[in-house]
Amino acid sequence: MKLFISPAARSVLLLITTLCASGVMADDHMRRQIDSHEHGITTLNIALDGNELVLQLEGPGMNFVGFEHAAHTAKQTQTIADALAALEDGEQLFSIDSDAKCVLAEGVALHITEEEADDGHDGHDDDHNDEHANHTDDTDDSQHSEFVGEYLYLCDNPGEVGQISVKIFESFPLTTEIETSFLGPKVQTFKNLTPADLELRLNDE
Ligand SMILES: [Zn+2]
Repeated sequence: MKLFISPAARSVLLLITTLCASGVMADDHMRRQIDSHEHGITTLNIALDGNELVLQLEGPGMNFVGFEHAAHTAKQTQTIADALAALEDGEQLFSIDSDAKCVLAEGVALHITEEEADDGHDGHDDDHNDEHANHTDDTDDSQHSEFVGEYLYLCDNPGEVGQISVKIFESFPLTTEIETSFLGPKVQTFKNLTPADLELRLNDE
């Protein structure tokens, strides 16, 4: 597995790890989401802690670019770059109650590829022609990749975060369902969002 991660992403991931460790997110739920990889289904974990609203989006590459193998062409490389740029722009993906006065402080996106054991043993296989017996091509479905988006919002009125509209379906139409969890100071909710139902209400007791 190759993990491309920037220093900025590291800081957000650290924050989420801290939230998880503090019991904000149920271990079983997190583990199930990380292990699961079902094309079309994206997961979204949201945590509100003090004035910090953290969102973590993760889903198969299929949902974001339509393929999961490493980029073989300039066009595919551009497609991945475009998806990462769109994923970093949390303002386009989420709409949070304006009364809460949340400002996106940080948005980062990662592309994680899983390679077969035969390939990439030294971490780089770009400089030679692969002639392996099990050579993979564009139609190979044994390779999987994931996209991850991490967003940190700082909210002046965190108590007013009552509803979040998730607009990911518009940006990434190959996503058919978003399994969402929210954990706040008072309430924990789980909901599966679909293009027909993309409102997350956080005040339901
Ligand atoms: Zn896959």
